[in-house]
Amino acid sequence: MSVRLLFISLYMTLTVQTAVCFEPKPLPYAYDALSPVISEETMHYHHDKHYVGYVNKLNELIVGTPFEGESLEDIIMTSDRSIFNNAAQVWNHEFFFEQLSPDPAVRPSGELLEAVTHQFGSVEAVRTAMDEAAVNLFGSGWVWLVVDDEGELSILSTRNAGLPMRHGLTPLLAMDVWEHAYYLDYRNRRGDAMHEMWRVMDWRKADERYLNR
Ligand code: MN
Repeated sequence: MSVRLLFISLYMTLTVQTAVCFEPKPLPYAYDALSPVISEETMHYHHDKHYVGYVNKLNELIVGTPFEGESLEDIIMTSDRSIFNNAAQVWNHEFFFEQLSPDPAVRPSGELLEAVTHQFGSVEAVRTAMDEAAVNLFGSGWVWLVVDDEGELSILSTRNAGLPMRHGLTPLLAMDVWEHAYYLDYRNRRGDAMHEMWRVMDWRKADERYLNR
């Protein structure tokens, strides 16, 4: 085989592989950008090991199944067991990382602020309710601020990789309540970890998600 042909076939192999594989998304900020709320070390483990691990595992699991070539959104809505767990963890982490910021809006605004105030009384009350839900969640999972088809807000806890869309709800904010999200920095103090997390949660994302739902 000529060198040129070898390169063409290598290129084709690579592009074909890329087409059916999910690619991990890079963090939208530096690894140390959220320190001291979330340390650089935690971000490296959380993103590079846990999240990328779910992406790799998902790519491995879907080979030869009807899910190969499907969108992540389709997979999370129709799969179960290992494929669901890994696909949902990919989706959940991308949603979670995207809403954190070194320069967050610490309150919602506009329509979401109105809805929050109307339903919970205050932004503080939503934060407290989510912190409590996180502390009361046994084992690993997620706590979400969600909105239903009627525009009603609520707080939802899901176990393991569970996500709101499988409950017919739209997520606005997510709290990762897996120990890997906080244990290096806060050890067993989950309540403190969640409380501190609000300092890097960007409500601008929640505003956008609320308006675009
Ligand atoms: Mn996580």
